[in-house]
Order: sequence, then C-alpha cells, then structure tokens
Amino acid sequence: MPKYIFVTGGVVSSVGKGITVASMGTILKSRELSVSVQKLDPYLNVDPGTMSPYQHGEVFVTQDGAETDLDLGNYERFINTELTADSNVTSGQIYSAVIAKERRGDFLGGTIQVVPHVTTEIKDRFKRLAQRSKAEVILIEVGGTVGDIEGQPFLEAIRQMRNDIGRDNVLYVHVTLLPYLHSTQELKTKPTQHSVNELRRIGIQPDIIICRSDFPIPESIRDKISLFCDVERQAVIPLPTVSSIYEIPLILEEAGLGQLIVDKLGLRKAKKADLSQWRELVERLKTPREPVNIALVGKYVELSDSYFSVREALCHAALYHDRELNLIWVHSEDLEKDGTDSLLRSAQGIIVPGGFGIRGIEGMVKAANYARTNEIPYLGLCLGMQVMVIEFARHVLKSPKPNSTEFDPNTPYPVIDLLPEQKKVKAKGGTMRLGNYPCQLLPGSRAAKAYGQSLVYERHRHRFEFNNEFRDTLEKAGLVYSGLSPDGRLVEICELANHPWMVSCQFHPEFGSRPSRPHPLFRDFIGAAKEVLREGAQPPLPLAAEK
Ligand code: GLN
Repeated sequence: MPKYIFVTGGVVSSVGKGITVASMGTILKSRELSVSVQKLDPYLNVDPGTMSPYQHGEVFVTQDGAETDLDLGNYERFINTELTADSNVTSGQIYSAVIAKERRGDFLGGTIQVVPHVTTEIKDRFKRLAQRSKAEVILIEVGGTVGDIEGQPFLEAIRQMRNDIGRDNVLYVHVTLLPYLHSTQELKTKPTQHSVNELRRIGIQPDIIICRSDFPIPESIRDKISLFCDVERQAVIPLPTVSSIYEIPLILEEAGLGQLIVDKLGLRKAKKADLSQWRELVERLKTPREPVNIALVGKYVELSDSYFSVREALCHAALYHDRELNLIWVHSEDLEKDGTDSLLRSAQGIIVPGGFGIRGIEGMVKAANYARTNEIPYLGLCLGMQVMVIEFARHVLKSPKPNSTEFDPNTPYPVIDLLPEQKKVKAKGGTMRLGNYPCQLLPGSRAAKAYGQSLVYERHRHRFEFNNEFRDTLEKAGLVYSGLSPDGRLVEICELANHPWMVSCQFHPEFGSRPSRPHPLFRDFIGAAKEVLREGAQPPLPLAAEK
C-alpha cells in the first residue's frame, strides 16, 4: 500500500507550490524511495491544451501524449522521471467521466452528487496512479488556493482519504505565504492562520506547514504558526526565496523535511538521504560564469512561464558549458516593427520556440533570416522549424509568398501544410499529433552528432508539417533533412548545410532536458553559440516581462 502526501496552497497562488512538491520528490527519491506525482487542476477544461499561454503558461506534453500543466515539467526535471497522462487530473476530466457513467446507466436509480460520486471518481484517479506507477510514495498537489469554489471537491476527496486508508498512510502539507509589511518591518502570519482555519473547517488538519517568504523567517514566527495552527514546531518549515529553484530541495532537506516525512509516514524502507549530486549541481549553478547571450523570439514573451521548459533546457545546456544563460526576450511583433539589428545584435544564438496562429510570425521569419545571413546559431522548436523552412523557401524561390497554410491558406508555395491525418479533424481538444514518435537520424548530420544515436523518440504537439512537395527543391539549395520518421514520410529535423549551426526540429526537445543531462540539441546549440563573438555586443535588453 503506497503512502500519500497531499499538498495544498494557502493565501495566494504562485507561491511555488509546484516546485515545492517537485523538491519533496527529490528529497524522497534521494532516500531510494520510489515516488510518483499528480497535479489536480480545478478548472473545467479537460486539459490545458485549448488554453492560451497567457492564461496558463506552457502546456507540458508527456511522452504518452497528454497535454498537461507545466508543473509536470518541474516534477520530471526534479525527480528525473517520465510521467504519463495519469499525473494530471482536471475537474473537466472528472465531471466528463461521471456524466459519461451516468449516461451509460452505471448509477441507475441514483441521484448523482459531488459527494460521493465526484469525490469517488477523484479518489479513483489517485489509486490508478498508485497502481500503474507502483510508487511507494504518491505526492498529490491540489492546484489553486484553499477557499477557491472549484477546488472544494478535490479537498473533500483528499479529506476522505485519511479515513479510507488510515491515518498512518496520509500526510497533509500546506504551503503558504508570509507577507512582509515594510512599514512595521515584519512578516505576518494572520493570512496563514486564516487559510489553515479554512482547511480545518472542511476537516483537514495540516501535519506540516511550509512557509514561503521573501525574507528570513525568525524563530518567533515559527513558534506563533505552530501555536495558532496546531502544528509541531519542527513541522513549520521556512522556505525563503532563493536565486535558483534547484536550491529548494537542499533547503527543505536542511530544514529536516525529509526525515519528518519518513517518521510521520513510517517509511521504514527509506535509506539515508544522498543529495551529493544535487548539491554539486547547485554549487556549480551558484559559481559565477561567463555569460552566453541567447535571444528567445516568441509572441508570448510577456509571460515567461509560456516558455518554462525552453528556459530551463537553455539553463541546463549553458551550465554544461560552464556559461551563465543570459536570456534576451524578444517579442516577435517588435521585430516586425523595428530592425532586427537593434534587437538581436548582442545575441550569440537565436531560439524560436513553439506557437500557434499568425500573430508575430513575420517577426520570427525575420529572426530566422537574421540567423541565416549573419551565421548566428539558430535552434527552432516546432513552429521555429516551420519558420526556418518558410524563410529558407522565400530565399530559394526568390518570393515573399512561401508560407504555412496555417497563416496563408492560399499561398502558392505551401511549404508547411496540414498533416494528412489532420485534414478531417474538426475538434480542437487533444487532436494534435501528440507525444512520443520515433525519428531516424541522418548519419554525419549535426543532429546525429548531437544525439550520438541513430534512432530517437521525441515529444510532439502540432498539426502542420513540412510539405514533401518541396523536399527536392529545398534540398538542392542546401536544406538537409537530418531527422525523418522511420517510414521517411515526415521531416522531423532539418538543418542548413552552409551555416555554422542552424538546426530545427518538429518536436519539443525542451521537455526531455534535465539539469544534469541537458538535451543534446540544446547542448550543441549553446556549444555553437558560445563560440560566437558579437561585434558591438550591447548589454542585454531588459526582460520583456519586467518592462
Ligand atoms: N502551429 C504549429 C502547428 O500546429 C506549430 C505548433 C507548435 O509550435 N507546437 O503545427
């Protein structure tokens, strides 16, 4: 029987609950315990795949093709594991399943209610993950903040679990924020007391409280939270803001959280924690390194969470080369208005990540043109590959018209077109080409050199692809198809022959990068970028998000 740890959030959203859960996974795994994780999202969408990145941030794709919350990316990176669709549960999925059962007649004669029907469906998802993952510890993060209307059924379900499977098998952890008042120069505990009261009102008494704060937390504050929230003092864990998210497992471990969980859940199989590799990683991260300037050209740059995994993958690759990632956020619409040189002149490498819709496309094409003509290393991810092909085709065919039919359905040169299997698809949710597909690499290519393998599996999320009608023309002009589907039908990776490093892929390698194992394409992209010296390099532009 696995043990369950349920993590709720108090006071405000975005306190870093996802990273905290991921870090708890790291410290448990460091004791040789097997861990799996699940995120409960209270919204009514079936998955975040249909949401704008501005609403939701990045959509993380699992290898089995689920479109999920970006926290799953943090879980995978921190626990170094590969999760499945079982790890993200939304209210939309729960209600759809309950209603489908009702229509089928599973509850004939009954009135369908939140308790017990919805809560039972939720608990079945916990058990399904436990059975399929066979993990010893299941970490479950309840999205949103305690008190949200739509989160109530999830809280009720986690409350019932303690009765269902016994006190010793369930732990409740509450992650909260201690706001700082500048006028009186103190951290305040009242919002935490209120959110714990809210939890108790529905029958959940937290066992552990993790206190996020931008300032050091004095002992007197811990005492106060312990007293008012009825949690042992050693179970009030301070978590001050740090410069790197990868430090958090170390901070939680030093605060005694790992041992506390082991004791409270009676995890007798737990070994002594070994975080030496993690510690080494953090030490390297904190050592000052020479910068490498990378321009990220996208249209969602106002919200850096839209590119969470891309940013992390770049960090991992920069660390591999002992460089500090200096990310220059470039809004692709700004590139349409302003000259490329003013925005890209300090970039040693240019990355164009995924995206949907026509807005900002021409700016991305300009960025690809700038990279090609100035011999700046370029990495295109999904849309970034399509943009590279469009730009190259315009150059080769000496016409401004080559395009993707996503942006110009009537283009005479549809170099990017719908996948044949997508032509009949009308519904938007979960209907893209999703998840892992094999890709055969061309021997001697930059891609094959990066991977050091001939067959790789990578995660996809797209409807459009390279149009084979243009394969020969573009190949003759120097486009190399360095990755193909094993049947040769789909172009998965392409690169330019006469360029130092211009490589693009139709998949999303960013999802597979780990802090201690950067993705090969990211690694070689940074490797090429760090060799580039920019004349008249400017100090990095301010973060778009901070403007
Ligand atoms: N919009 C493009 C497509 O659907 C690219 C998708 C992406 O970048 N994930 O093919």
